[in-house]
Amino acid sequence: MRTETDFLGNEMTFDCMGCDITSGKLMVPGGVIYRGDIAVLAADPEVPIPGFLVVNVSRHIRSLSELNSAERHEVVDVAAAAERALKSLGISEVTLVQEERSSHFHIWVFPNYNWMTEQFGKGVSYLRDIMHYADDRADDATRQEVLATIEKVRDYFKEHGIVE
Ligand SMILES: [Zn+2]
Repeated sequence: MRTETDFLGNEMTFDCMGCDITSGKLMVPGGVIYRGDIAVLAADPEVPIPGFLVVNVSRHIRSLSELNSAERHEVVDVAAAAERALKSLGISEVTLVQEERSSHFHIWVFPNYNWMTEQFGKGVSYLRDIMHYADDRADDATRQEVLATIEKVRDYFKEHGIVE
């Protein structure tokens, strides 16, 4: 069991964060945004950046190459719909990241904001610095904005589904 603190200050206890989010055992801030048969979309529970989303797959696997065809399709459909949702909110660019060093396959859908580019530059090498910065600076207004963005993305999924 591991314990981490989510960005609202609540304790999260889990064996595998991906398994526990997709099974519904672990409640994340703002709740699950979209739940498919295979893929589940939620906000990153630890980093308070509006529109920072995570696509999880239900099965405990590590790599893209382990996904079967149905899983690949749904995971990519959800990631693409998440991108469209963020772009509909005025975010002009997103970065997708998947790292095999995590034991449970997930894709980060990371929004780019002007303040990130101005202070850190662009590209995956800056993501950790941006996350630490956002975490250090987050106040109640930021956390409310993150939660409001989750609701907007949820509305987008309700209206448009995952396949355009
Ligand atoms: Zn897992």
